[in-house]
Amino acid sequence: MDTIYPSLVHIVGEGYASFRREELFTYSKDLGTSEPKWPDYVAAPKTAEQVAEILKLANREKVPVVPLGGGMSLAGLALPLKGGIALDLKRMDRIIEVNEKGRYAVVEAGVSHGKLTAYLHNQHPHLMHSEPGAPPAATIGGNLAIHGQGDLAHPYGFNTDMINGMEIVLPTGEICKFGSCAVGAGWFTLHPLPDVGLFLGWNGATGIITKVSLRLFPYKKFREMEIFVVEDENLIPEILYELTHLGLTEDLVAFSSAIPPFSDRLHHVSINVTGDSEAEIELKRRLIFEVKLAKYIESGVGGIAAVSQAIQRPQVSKSADWKKGGGFEYVGSIMPVSAYPECYRRGAEISTRHHIPYTILGRVIGCGHAMMFSWSYAFNRADEKTVRHAREALHETDNIVMDLGGVIWKPAVFGQELLLAKMDVNTLSLMKKIKLLLDPNNIMNPGNWEVD
Ligand SMILES: Cc1cc2nc3c(=O)[nH]c(=O)nc-3n(C[C@H](O)[C@H](O)[C@H](O)COP(=O)(O)OP(=O)(O)OC[C@H]3O[C@@H](n4cnc5c(N)ncnc54)[C@H](O)[C@@H]3O)c2cc1C
Repeated sequence: MDTIYPSLVHIVGEGYASFRREELFTYSKDLGTSEPKWPDYVAAPKTAEQVAEILKLANREKVPVVPLGGGMSLAGLALPLKGGIALDLKRMDRIIEVNEKGRYAVVEAGVSHGKLTAYLHNQHPHLMHSEPGAPPAATIGGNLAIHGQGDLAHPYGFNTDMINGMEIVLPTGEICKFGSCAVGAGWFTLHPLPDVGLFLGWNGATGIITKVSLRLFPYKKFREMEIFVVEDENLIPEILYELTHLGLTEDLVAFSSAIPPFSDRLHHVSINVTGDSEAEIELKRRLIFEVKLAKYIESGVGGIAAVSQAIQRPQVSKSADWKKGGGFEYVGSIMPVSAYPECYRRGAEISTRHHIPYTILGRVIGCGHAMMFSWSYAFNRADEKTVRHAREALHETDNIVMDLGGVIWKPAVFGQELLLAKMDVNTLSLMKKIKLLLDPNNIMNPGNWEVD
């Protein structure tokens, strides 16, 4: 203890390392239902070299290191389950380069999504990145470490499919580059070198992402959102199939929620249409509603909702106060689009049983290749009974995802164990070898993806 703190101060500078309870306090909690877990130290490096020095120190001292971006992933993923150093990466927040014509941005991993969005809006208004629906403080690195997805998931896929290059600090302290940047050719592509990508989706358990080149996409000036509503959940997969076939929408999200009451048991598809002119928007609208969705409208099973504040596509954070007292956590999963009706029915049943208004949402990923499906459970932080209900509902939902043949996304430890128990034995064995090879002293976010 006595040698670690002065060493951290030596690496990151006075004022950026601490072992004081009052400063460790915020690092011991996250926004969800997890019990507090205390780190022994916090350090906030400014550079990849400082990260490397900290990891070397941690290996010498055999002390865990838990990277932290915005801490918005819920599910306890950035909590120091086994103590050690909370590595706060938010100071690594430089936007290094935006290549307008090459459509990419090179950023440090601690850059928040909000910061990148604002920067692009001001400096490069023709470009956008795929921003998750998370609070703006969520970081680029943290989102990639859990395979996040944003508002360009349809048609471009997971945010981790939009990487042109990465810099990673390995658990043993070496700084590695991946992609064209590894051969000094700039940050414009991740391919075609041999694939050595072992870091995405690992929650930092195999290394720390310190720099990323992210693909950018055209930002269209004219934007419109329509909500298509049906009563029968069984229609949602075919509606999404029709719309992804047409391929004219920027974002497609299906959702149902108990609040506001008039939307209860209705199924909404939010359809985002963008264009360079009003005429382009109008053409797309007509193709969507007068051609693709006409049969539902004419047969009276579906219609267009007037978009009001109350019924716009829910940002799941809005459901956080439904129990009053402010708290929510959700299970995310990656599912086939065809699973929507069953996901809705089983999720609504769990919510009802736990006295929580249901919020169920699925965002299309790719050309309908999958859906990120989430079930949110609100609780009142001051009322332990509601927290317990939410926790139980989360666990039951993890089990449902496995039952339905889906994959839990950004699973908490409980969900990670379900997935590892079902994992192909050879794949599991490879994961163990990778972990041991990269992190021989098991210092990196121990307790997460615990494959030993
Ligand atoms: C209301 C709400 C809505 C959300 N909507 C979405 C959404 O639409 N799409 C989506 O993808 N997510 C969503 N999320 C989940 C989450 O907030 C985001 O994925 C967020 O981008 C995670 O980034 P973070 O910086 O907060 O990560 P953190 O919570 O800080 O970290 C996530 C994990 O990655 C590790 N980690 C952090 N930084 C690094 C790094 N640089 N290198 C290696 N490992 C690292 C941490 O140890 C932890 O295990 C939502 C969350 C909330 C609360």
